[in-house]
Amino acid sequence: MPQDKTLDDLFLDTLKDIYFAEKQILKALPKMAKAANDPQLKAGFEEHRQQTEGHVDRLEQIFEMLGQPARGKTCEAILGIIEEGKEIMDDYKGAPALDAGLISSGQAVEHYEMARYGTLKAWATLLGHKDAAQLLDATYKEESATDKKLTQLATQTENAKAAA
Ligand code: FE
Ligand code: FE
Repeated sequence: MPQDKTLDDLFLDTLKDIYFAEKQILKALPKMAKAANDPQLKAGFEEHRQQTEGHVDRLEQIFEMLGQPARGKTCEAILGIIEEGKEIMDDYKGAPALDAGLISSGQAVEHYEMARYGTLKAWATLLGHKDAAQLLDATYKEESATDKKLTQLATQTENAKAAA
């Protein structure tokens, strides 16, 4: 058991975790957009894919600030969340509740990201990485806004139809 690992190590490891996760999300979002029926939901996933490119970019800026290579570390959590999303896409293909399922998968992804970015921002502040904290906060806000938009869509048209 290594006893010398510090918060700096944990910060870097967690950056690698979310960097890996963002790259997986970048691949999953076009599939979710393609599967969605509701045009607003489709557009929402597409817009968030664009934002996600920015998230990857911000993380690369942070690695550079830290003088570290931008490298991902397998994140089993996001792989599991994305796998569940795939199951919903398969099991509910052509079904009235498909969009509701896609929204639920999207929210699981956003909540994972919010948890990571919230923690990373706090650690960056604690470790005196002011610029990194600002970048992490900017991404956190976009994840949170996306989550709220999905909550809104969850109560709109397609879901209402699926409940009828
Ligand atoms: Fe993201
Ligand atoms: Fe996101």
